[in-house]
Amino acid sequence: MRRRYCAAFCTMLAACVVYAQGIFLCPKCGYENERTALTCTHCQATIPAPKQQPEKKPASDSGTTFQKSGKLMFLSGAVAEKEIEQARKLMSETNDADVVRMLLRNAKALDLLTDPAIENQRLKTIQALKKQCDAVVPTSLIKCPVCDGSGKTMMKVVNMKGEISFIEVAGRPCPKCLGKGEVSRRAPADERKARQGPALKRFKELQEGRKYIDAGSGAWIPAELDQKLTARQTALVRRAVASDCPLCLGSGLGDCSMCSGVGQVKCPHPKCHRGMVEVFTDKLIVDAKIVRTENCKVCDTKGAVSCRQCEGKGATVCSKCGGTGDRTDCTKCGGRGVVSCKKCGGSGSAGEAVCPDCAGDGNILCTGCNGDGKAAK
Ligand SMILES: [Zn+2]
Ligand SMILES: [Zn+2]
Ligand SMILES: [Zn+2]
Ligand SMILES: [Zn+2]
Ligand SMILES: [Zn+2]
Ligand SMILES: [Zn+2]
Ligand SMILES: [Zn+2]
Repeated sequence: MRRRYCAAFCTMLAACVVYAQGIFLCPKCGYENERTALTCTHCQATIPAPKQQPEKKPASDSGTTFQKSGKLMFLSGAVAEKEIEQARKLMSETNDADVVRMLLRNAKALDLLTDPAIENQRLKTIQALKKQCDAVVPTSLIKCPVCDGSGKTMMKVVNMKGEISFIEVAGRPCPKCLGKGEVSRRAPADERKARQGPALKRFKELQEGRKYIDAGSGAWIPAELDQKLTARQTALVRRAVASDCPLCLGSGLGDCSMCSGVGQVKCPHPKCHRGMVEVFTDKLIVDAKIVRTENCKVCDTKGAVSCRQCEGKGATVCSKCGGTGDRTDCTKCGGRGVVSCKKCGGSGSAGEAVCPDCAGDGNILCTGCNGDGKAAK
């Protein structure tokens, strides 16, 4: 036990300045800065130059380690890897992108608890899987805007009395929906919102089944870490899984009111019918006058044209977040999720003893955002 503490303590000293992939955590305030920064963006403290990988540091994962106080030092990288593996498995077995996305976020949260000095490919793998998720665009069916759901192409017939009637043109279905009467469109926010609840439930059941516990804000950690995270670590995981912009649910995209997400609208030519324009003729067929048609030049016989409002994308930029997909930062902590402990002024110690308020961490969870760093929804 004694040896374990000693080794753990040495690692802790070495990790006072934590350099991660492209970012580093300010040793004074914990703010995430660019690796190239010379001073902390948040507290202006001077940032020491990154040290070369110390030789004493374990080159490989030595499992989960704890500080003398009993709080977590570093989580074993294997735990974060398991989370990624779970996401990969679910993606290939069910294609449940909603839950996979939650797992990937959680993997990112767990990864933040691991020793950043140990090289790994986890973030790269997470990003690759996230890309796969994003390729699964949630869609739903909507009544075809060209044929209004009939799926048919009708032909106008005028009889001898001048009465107008329509007959179906056999073998020529609506050019937009090809006779189905429905078209696929990007699912609007309210539909995606409705799916979010059941997806969260599936995610929760999965994590509970793995004996994980809720670490707040939707972060799940192995049961062995219960009560073992410092305020800063709690904020790290909560920030990593913080919920998205409530309007667009993180996509950064808003619903297009003009095309309802289809990306196309009915051809604006007033006489265009399913891509054909009426041309009158006197030619008699039996006892009725039939209306001859020719190709519509506006829509090129497609019956629909690209939506002007969204330029055919089926979505606009989210009006709430301006396209970032994020909620705005908590004003109380500036997005850090923690604030400096008032009792010890951030030093973590009270005289010779460990500060009782922050348990030596120097930080306490921000009460404004409860650690996720985001403003209230
Ligand atoms: Zn700082
Ligand atoms: Zn149609
Ligand atoms: Zn549109
Ligand atoms: Zn047309
Ligand atoms: Zn948004
Ligand atoms: Zn304190
Ligand atoms: Zn806050």
